[in-house]
Amino acid sequence: MKINYFYPEYEVVRQDSRCTRCRLCEDQCANGVHFYDEKHQVMLSEDARCVNCHRCVATCPTRAIKIVKSDCDLKENANWNSAVMKEIYKQAASGGVLLSSMGSPTNLPVYWDKILINASQVTNPSIDPLREPMETKVFLGKQPARIRRTADGTLDCTLPPQLELAMPVMFSAMSYGSISYNAHQSLARAASALGIYYNTGEGGLHEDFYCYGENTIVQVASGRFGVHGDYLNAGAAIEIKMGQGAKPGIGGHLPGAKIVGDVSRTRMVPEGSDAISPAPHHDIYSIEDLRQLVYSLKEATHHQKPIIVKVAAVHNIAAIASGIARSGADIIAIDGFRGGTGAAPTRIRDNVGIPIELALAAVDQRLRDEGIRNEVSIVVGGSIRSATDVVKAIALGADACYIATAALLAMGCHLCRTCQAGKCNWGIATQVPELVARLDPDEASQRLIHLLSAWNHEIKELMGGMGINSIEALRGNRLMLRGVGLNEKELEILGIAHAGE
Ligand code: SF4
Ligand code: SF4
Repeated sequence: MKINYFYPEYEVVRQDSRCTRCRLCEDQCANGVHFYDEKHQVMLSEDARCVNCHRCVATCPTRAIKIVKSDCDLKENANWNSAVMKEIYKQAASGGVLLSSMGSPTNLPVYWDKILINASQVTNPSIDPLREPMETKVFLGKQPARIRRTADGTLDCTLPPQLELAMPVMFSAMSYGSISYNAHQSLARAASALGIYYNTGEGGLHEDFYCYGENTIVQVASGRFGVHGDYLNAGAAIEIKMGQGAKPGIGGHLPGAKIVGDVSRTRMVPEGSDAISPAPHHDIYSIEDLRQLVYSLKEATHHQKPIIVKVAAVHNIAAIASGIARSGADIIAIDGFRGGTGAAPTRIRDNVGIPIELALAAVDQRLRDEGIRNEVSIVVGGSIRSATDVVKAIALGADACYIATAALLAMGCHLCRTCQAGKCNWGIATQVPELVARLDPDEASQRLIHLLSAWNHEIKELMGGMGINSIEALRGNRLMLRGVGLNEKELEILGIAHAGE
């Protein structure tokens, strides 16, 4: 006798009077939820397979379907809640590590939501962004600490290599392999149109996307997949990935089943072999070793590209960032513990690392205290969800933000959190050709452009309300922030006053 240890999490509710038996939902669901019962001429559902991706809901021509969270749950209490019990049943059945995708859903504080933004009243008048110029352009890279002159007294305007962004947002690393060709193309096209950057992640750069090189950050991760001279020189900047917010302290793993065709060629990994990036870089055991890699990459690219070092936000992040700033890196990217992923061990994703808000504030303060803040730019990611998160991050000290989940949502992702299965019904986290084809790069890139254009308007409005007309004047301006419902220690680390003060 087969025992189902728990009832399906979601139920498909189909209004039979509206259903025309067109079977489109059957065709659209890669999880095999919907099927047609010839004998009774009715559509039926296998609820246990439903991941609540809403593809059927969105495509049903008669709006006959809705997905509801089942109210048939286990007998839980505050300690043994239903999720904990289900995880035990799953591990008892599989004997394996629990895998998840996207950012941690845990109920830990989201500090962005406990920070409020200032607005000008009476004195220091606000600025109307519709009538007055507002500057959202930012440059990332080493900035001179003071005005310099050459030997003959003229102004020395030479700068180390910089990234120029039309707005303080970029698309974070998502590898070709973890996301589809069409998703990569959409990000590349949108970055190019917006005057910002997208990031290859650790999967190499598909030959078709070299044409977007001016708007591409190429990543070098511990597995060195897809890394070669042309690749390094193809992008506008190189990112050394030391860590990732969703899985600090461990490497990456793209299953052999996803290493097919172009993905295999682009990664330079044989078809069908697992692509396993080691947890550490085997040539980096100290800041001196990191410095050597930074220098080697600069040499390989004729000192023309800024070097980014990406780390996960962990307990001693301020000291780590100080070391990175001294390694010769031009930009530090910090990924908070809520950062997304295509696949990560659930326990690590939900329990390792610290929130990006606290990490950012600690790093910015440490670099200022050490007088080296201008030596590096700071980019933060790990659940940046809106223009207000961006503005708060910049006021806390960031130069720019990385977004990934928000970008996927703009393309159609419904956060079903099953990317690791490779059967994304929205054509994003999959390599199955018929699923990939569902994502139209024309439409998806346009939606990304719309999203960030809207955010740019909102950033200007928020800055105008503060009486600030440039990102440069907002950066690290913590006087513009107030906390609500935070304790003394949290306010101290964030470096902001409580609302009412
Ligand atoms: S897509 Fe809608 S109308 Fe068509 S079979 Fe499914 S539920 Fe019925
Ligand atoms: S990318 Fe696809 S599989 Fe991943 S969470 Fe979004 S909809 Fe689900």
